Amino acid sequence: MKVVVLGAGVVGTASAWYLAKSGHEVLVVDRQPEPALETSFANGGQISVSHSEPWANPGAPLKMIRWLGREDAPLLFRPSTDWHQWSWGLRFLWECLPGRMRRNTAQAFALASYSREQLLALRRETGISYDELSRGILQFFTDAGEFARARKQTAWLREQGFDCEPASPDECAVIEPALAHAKPMLAGGIYTASDESGDARMFTCRLAELAKAAGVMFRHKVNVCAIEIESGRVCRVVIDDEAGIQESLRADAYVVALGSYSPLLLRSIGIPLPVYPVKGYSVTLPLEAGDLAPVVSLSDDYYKLVFSRLGARLRVAGTAELNGYDTSLNEGRCLAILKRCHELFPHAGKAENAEFWTGLRPAVPSNLPRIGRTRYANLYVNTGHGTLGWTMSCGSGKAIADIVSGRRPEVDFAFLGLESRPARAAAPA
Ligand SMILES: Cc1cc2nc3c(=O)[nH]c(=O)nc-3n(C[C@H](O)[C@H](O)[C@H](O)COP(=O)(O)OP(=O)(O)OC[C@H]3O[C@@H](n4cnc5c(N)ncnc54)[C@H](O)[C@@H]3O)c2cc1C
Repeated sequence: MKVVVLGAGVVGTASAWYLAKSGHEVLVVDRQPEPALETSFANGGQISVSHSEPWANPGAPLKMIRWLGREDAPLLFRPSTDWHQWSWGLRFLWECLPGRMRRNTAQAFALASYSREQLLALRRETGISYDELSRGILQFFTDAGEFARARKQTAWLREQGFDCEPASPDECAVIEPALAHAKPMLAGGIYTASDESGDARMFTCRLAELAKAAGVMFRHKVNVCAIEIESGRVCRVVIDDEAGIQESLRADAYVVALGSYSPLLLRSIGIPLPVYPVKGYSVTLPLEAGDLAPVVSLSDDYYKLVFSRLGARLRVAGTAELNGYDTSLNEGRCLAILKRCHELFPHAGKAENAEFWTGLRPAVPSNLPRIGRTRYANLYVNTGHGTLGWTMSCGSGKAIADIVSGRRPEVDFAFLGLESRPARAAAPA
């Protein structure tokens, strides 16, 4: 079949790779000059199956109230007149209910675990490298109550066969010696040895090269303007081509992987998607010989920041801001991340060399991506990966390739348009 993939972020590129592996003729289109120049550009770098619990959990509403009005808050809601923002916010509150949170965690865990398996298989098959590190992820806590809650969650993950272990402050500093300075602040940590980290942008660009070698075509600087429907099927996708001239693309199947922009296009053909942009920031610090920066990937639970070593760089990322499609850099939020980084790791890179970036997570209130069929027979979606798009990219790409090819995906997940299997064990509250 001829398949057009809309979007060359990490999700679209992974979809294209697995579609080509399934024998399809694939064309990827994207408005940027290269792959992964939007949200997949400078994210936190974590392949974090251990972070399957969504932001929407029973403790979230109270924390958000406490953070209200604080410019450096990890989660910031900037109220606007946009109805979609309010509707997303209300659905987020609904997903905070204990039963919803348990179901969402179990689903995310299934897809994230499967995705990591696919990533490992891809690495074995192709030798792709992307400043990856298989040193695990240590989530550390400075609040004793949050640590106690996380330990309870860990017990459930361990029952699912997951290798996460609680760690005392001393043990945290053994797992990652750069934490020695911060040890007096720590209540404890949870270490997951099988989690990984790596540069999502480097991965996407290299996977795009491998995909090209496998026959996939990429067209960049092409803006997707509309999807047109005839007799219950997509008949064409209208683009502004490289010269700004309108052109039609026709194929047997179409996969929408436009990240935060997916709902804008789909809304016009009557497909509502609860995807809303949640802005995040990252700081990348070039490291020099003698710098004391972490190597094991870390998550700072209180500040909701993640730290990943990417070759000779330290990436620090996090914070969430509901502020529409605005991608401007807020200096206060950039500096708050840098300040926290140097509070924990005073000798990790020089502030004057820091590179700041912001991107829009394609977030769904449940943090479960929308993958699968739509009401139009030849239109598919692979979008809404929120905080875990890098973690879930390979599994989602493989799953959408299976669905487009008429196969049932190998993972038990609530794919759109497929009958669900019997419910799996839910996570504890
Ligand atoms: C600060 C931050 C930290 C993060 N940390 C992590 C992490 O540690 N681990 C993790 O798993 N995930 C993380 N994420 C989430 C992850 O980065 C995203 O979920 C993922 O990058 C989304 O990929 P995507 O391909 O869906 O979207 P994108 O990368 O945004 O790709 C969408 C593509 O569509 C193109 N496009 C959009 N509209 C149009 C149009 N009209 N015409 C043509 N092209 C168009 C864009 O150019 C873009 O290339 C983080 C995100 C942020 C913001």
